[in-house]
Amino acid sequence: MRSVRKSKLLWSVLIFIFVLFCCLAAPILSTAAGADKSEELTVGVPVDRCPVFYVDPDTGEIVGIGVDLMRAAAEHAGYSVTFKSIEEESLKEALDNPEYDIVMPFGSAITSASGQKSVVSDNLIQTPFTLVTDGKRDIPLLNELRVGMLTSLGGAADTVRELYPGIEIVFYDDMEDAVDALRDGKVDALLHNSYVWSYVLQKPSYSNLVVQPAAMFSMDFRAGALDTPRGREIIERLNKGIAHIEETFKQAVVLDYTTRRLYKYDLSDYIYEYWLIVLLGTLLLIAVIVIFIFRWRALRLEQEKRVRWLQEHDALTGALSLKGFRKKVEKLLRANPDVPYLLTYVNIKNFKFVNDSFGMKAGDELLRYWVKTTKVTLSENEAMCRIDSDHLAVLRHAGGDERLRKDDEEVVGSVRNYFLDRGKEHRVQICGGIYVLTPEDYHNIDVDHMLDFARVAEKKVRATKKDGYEFYNPEQWEKGKKVAEVVGRLPVAISTGEIQVWYQPQVNYRTGEITGVEALSRWNHAKLGMIPPADFIPELEESGLIYDLDSYVWEKVCQDLSRWNKQGIHRSVSVNLSRSDIRDDRDIPGHFHDLMEKYELSADQFRIEITETAFAEKPELLIGTTVRLRELGFQVEMDDFGSGYSSLHMLKEVPVDRIKLDYNFLTSKGDAEKGNTIVAYIVQMVNALGMEMIVEGVETAEQADFLLSKGCSEMQGYYFYRPMCVEDFEKL
Ligand code: C2E
Ligand code: CA
Ligand code: CA
Repeated sequence: MRSVRKSKLLWSVLIFIFVLFCCLAAPILSTAAGADKSEELTVGVPVDRCPVFYVDPDTGEIVGIGVDLMRAAAEHAGYSVTFKSIEEESLKEALDNPEYDIVMPFGSAITSASGQKSVVSDNLIQTPFTLVTDGKRDIPLLNELRVGMLTSLGGAADTVRELYPGIEIVFYDDMEDAVDALRDGKVDALLHNSYVWSYVLQKPSYSNLVVQPAAMFSMDFRAGALDTPRGREIIERLNKGIAHIEETFKQAVVLDYTTRRLYKYDLSDYIYEYWLIVLLGTLLLIAVIVIFIFRWRALRLEQEKRVRWLQEHDALTGALSLKGFRKKVEKLLRANPDVPYLLTYVNIKNFKFVNDSFGMKAGDELLRYWVKTTKVTLSENEAMCRIDSDHLAVLRHAGGDERLRKDDEEVVGSVRNYFLDRGKEHRVQICGGIYVLTPEDYHNIDVDHMLDFARVAEKKVRATKKDGYEFYNPEQWEKGKKVAEVVGRLPVAISTGEIQVWYQPQVNYRTGEITGVEALSRWNHAKLGMIPPADFIPELEESGLIYDLDSYVWEKVCQDLSRWNKQGIHRSVSVNLSRSDIRDDRDIPGHFHDLMEKYELSADQFRIEITETAFAEKPELLIGTTVRLRELGFQVEMDDFGSGYSSLHMLKEVPVDRIKLDYNFLTSKGDAEKGNTIVAYIVQMVNALGMEMIVEGVETAEQADFLLSKGCSEMQGYYFYRPMCVEDFEKL
């Protein structure tokens, strides 16, 4: 009984283990058997057809409506599929490639590129094809249409041709070329799979393309293989799988892909869509860059200016540095050659004591105060600098004793009392040296040289006195004061009659007749009395005022001549023309001509004396003036002949009427005998040249006789007459 129960239990356990084994092993075995059955299928597809076939940018796998449908069909048929992107230009060529078991998509069976027949599967899905236009034209009937298609749609194109034999198809390599052709009117419309359009037309720049729903037709969507036994076998098996695909599944796949926003904007799309923002942004960016560049340049200029300022200025006081001072002084002297200047070198005698007893800060404050007080007294055309520590240099207008006293009071006085005014028992001592600039300093400007002179004078003060100032060249100062006095007073002198015209008669020594007269100016100064021309003519020439004096003299002479004419006395007067009267912009001949007309005089009454040295300076201008004067009928004389460097050369070059020889000049100095010989030969030479001649400065009877014996009878000099006022002359 027990053994029967035992064996029953054993059987039960064995059956249980067998059942358990079967349950566990069955799925494994069935899987193994299934794996054996599942065959690998390679499908060649184009990948430029989103959303039908395209590469998922995230996974890199080929996906799309076509992929999902084919995968479903293949799995039903027991295949596992791999999709491969076809590299060939068209499906016809792809058919010949043994790498692919099948190729998609086909509308119907076609012949491969190598001429082999193909077999196609049943239709996977009915795909709508739509025409797209640029919306500007009405499209003709389908049979007369010119449509653009992509090259890769070669298979579909064959089907289209079968359906609409009259249609003309133009192929384009990519969508952009196709759209350009449409817009240029090369084709009436573009034809493509509607699903593809749903993707392509998301591109912003294609937004004006119009889908033509009326012109829609549908095409089959099949897989194809070469017509070989294996090809046929695959297609047959696939057809079974295709038959299994539910309509609802197909619709779901299409819906899924067409509603996804698959289109990804590229840069050109963003630019097209947001061009206004892009434009404004770019303009803004350019504006920002331009502003930045300008600001940066302004900043750099500012910095450069600051560096330059520091090079030419003293950081402590703000006054010029020696370098800046040199530059400014040179500029001032060049711009104001007529302004008399003086240069002062100033030094605090016991500056070290100031620093030691009141501290460096107090010393600095004193220097700053000093510079500030001096600056107030200077004009634009004056300059000052701090050379180093307590040494200042100032270039001032030479304004006479009055200005000197005022500056001393205002500047030096308050600096002297700087500490006393602040309750400290110390009087600052200031030593100054003054150099008065000479005319030479304006021609050869050497600031360091002038400073040296001023420093020498300052040393004299330091050595001899407690403080104060000293001139390096006091004579120059006196002379300068006189020049300032003379030049400054000229307008008053002319208007008040201080300037007078005197006359010195010229005689013919042979006949004793008065043959002419020279007009010479005299200045009867209200304070200084009679001043000889030698004391004011050069000053007026230097300061550019001689023309004012000369025109006054010429006018006066004309008035006298006119009066004499009315009295029935026809006289000729020689007038002096300064070398600085002759300038490009001054028409001297014209001026004289006007004077003759104004006073009803004839040109022969006016003789013009031009000094020989003037001819040497600007020969062209002077020769031109001389020629014009003579053309107008005036007589021109070469004054002071023999005093210049190139007298003989002048004699040959300049077309004057008369030579005026200064006897005094040739005989007063050196060997008088030799002088006489020279005079004798000059007279002989001028006579030989056929020119007229007059000798001035004849002081004695011997001189007059000598000249006459040598052949010269026209003379002027103290021996005959001294220059005299017009009243005395008229009495003659
Ligand atoms: P200049 O043209 O050679 O005039 C002759 C100068 O010699 C005059 O001097 C005259 O007074 C002086 N003189 C005449 N006879 C004798 C003499 O026998 N012995 C000596 N030692 N001197 C004699 P002044 O009037 O002092 O004039 C000096 C110079 O000033 C003139 O020399 C002339 O160059 C210039 N000058 C005078 N008046 C004028 C003027 O109105 N305009 C210009 N531009 N220059 C003038
Ligand atoms: Ca003269
Ligand atoms: Ca003369």
